[in-house]
Amino acid sequence: MPTKAFAAPSATAPLGPLTIDRREPLPTDVEIEILYCGVCHSDLHFARNEWGMTVFPVVPGHEILGRVTRVGSKVSRFKAGDTAAVGCLVDSCRTCSSCAGGLEQFCLEGSVFTYGGPDKHSGGVTHGGYSERIVCDEAFTLKVPAGLDPARAAPLLCAGITTYSPLRKWGAGKGRKVGIVGLGGLGHMGVKFAHALGAHTVLFTTSEGKVADGKRLGADEVVVSRDTDAMARHTGSFDLILDTVSADHDLNAYLALLKLDATLVLVGAPPGPQGVSVFSLLMPRRNLAGSLIGGIAETQEMLDFCGKHGIVCDIELIRMQQINEAYERMLRSDVKYRFVIDMASLKA
Ligand code: NAP
Ligand code: ZN
Ligand code: ZN
Repeated sequence: MPTKAFAAPSATAPLGPLTIDRREPLPTDVEIEILYCGVCHSDLHFARNEWGMTVFPVVPGHEILGRVTRVGSKVSRFKAGDTAAVGCLVDSCRTCSSCAGGLEQFCLEGSVFTYGGPDKHSGGVTHGGYSERIVCDEAFTLKVPAGLDPARAAPLLCAGITTYSPLRKWGAGKGRKVGIVGLGGLGHMGVKFAHALGAHTVLFTTSEGKVADGKRLGADEVVVSRDTDAMARHTGSFDLILDTVSADHDLNAYLALLKLDATLVLVGAPPGPQGVSVFSLLMPRRNLAGSLIGGIAETQEMLDFCGKHGIVCDIELIRMQQINEAYERMLRSDVKYRFVIDMASLKA
C-alpha cells in the first residue's frame, strides 16, 4: 500500500515527503492508522547518521500511537477501532534466550527495530512512525490503557520504557536516592517514574530555566550541574543515577556522586566515546552500566503502570512539516519536554 511519510534522504538534507510501501496485513498483522508519533533524539541521531549505521532514505519515529484499521485473520487481541501502539521494536526471532526471557531488544539473531532495520517481509529496511500508517505483527503491538491522552501517551513507547526499565531493574523505590541527568524527553519521564516509584528523586540539569519544571514534574531536589559546589554537596550519596544526556559530557562528575556499590546507568547515546577515569570506579567500588529500551512485556507493564497512576508525557504538539525546526530546537535542549507530531498534518 502506498503510504505517505516523511524521510531524511541523506545525513545532511532536511526531512521531506516520501511515499513508502506498507505490506497488506498478514494473518497475524495489525494495521494502524497513526494518529501521533513522538520525536526522540534517536530519530535525530539516526537521520544525521551520527551512529554510522543509517540506510537512506530513513523514515524515523518509534513512539507510535494510532487507531487499528484492519487486522489479519489470526489476530485475537486487537480489532478495528481499538487504540494501539508500536514502540522501538517490530520483530525478533522470538525463540533465542533473550526473546524467551522477554528481552527482545537483545535478540541474539538481531532485533528488528521499527526503522532502519532489516524488514523480513519486503527485504528492504523498516520504516518508522513519521508516516500515515504502519503494519505490525500483533506480538509487537501494544495496548494503550483507556484514560491516557493519546498524544501524551505516544512518547511512553520509547522515552517511557527506556527510563522505566532501568529504574525497575536497579531498584528505584522508597528509601533510595535516585538521580536523573538531563531534562529532555527521557529525563522528564525518568523524573516522573522515579517519583512515582517512591524514590528520593534528584534532577541534574544544565538549564537553569528548567529548575521549577523539574520540581513540578516530581523531583525532590534539582541541581544545576554547572554549579560545582552544588554537585559536591551530593558526593557519595546516590544509590542510582540514570544518565539521559545526548551529547558529550563528564561521566566522572556523576560517578563521584555514587555510594559504594551504586550504579550509574547510561541510556543517553552520544555518538563518541565518553572518558571514564578508572579511579571514579575504584574508590569506592562503583558500577557503570547501560540499558536499551525494554522488552515487549515490560513495555506493556509500563503502559499499564502509567494507566494506573495517570502518568503521561508533557508534550508540544507539532505538524509534520515542523520536524526540521523541532530537531534544531532539540539540539538546543529547548523541548518541553517531548515533541509529538499530529499525524493528521501529513494527510492535509
Ligand atoms: P532530548 O529530549 O534532546 O534530551 C536530552 C537532554 O540532555 C537535554 O534536554 C539536556 O537536558 C541534556 N543535554 C543535552 N546536551 C547536553 C550537554 N552537552 N551536556 C549536558 N547535558 C546535555 O533527548 P532524548 O530524546 O531524551 O534522548 C536522550 C538520549 O537518549 C539520546 O542520545 C537518545 O538517542 C538516547 N536514547 C537512548 C535510548 C536507549 O534505549 N538507551 C532510547 C531512547 C533515546 P538539560 O537541559 O536538562 O541539561
Ligand atoms: Zn527513542
Ligand atoms: Zn531472539
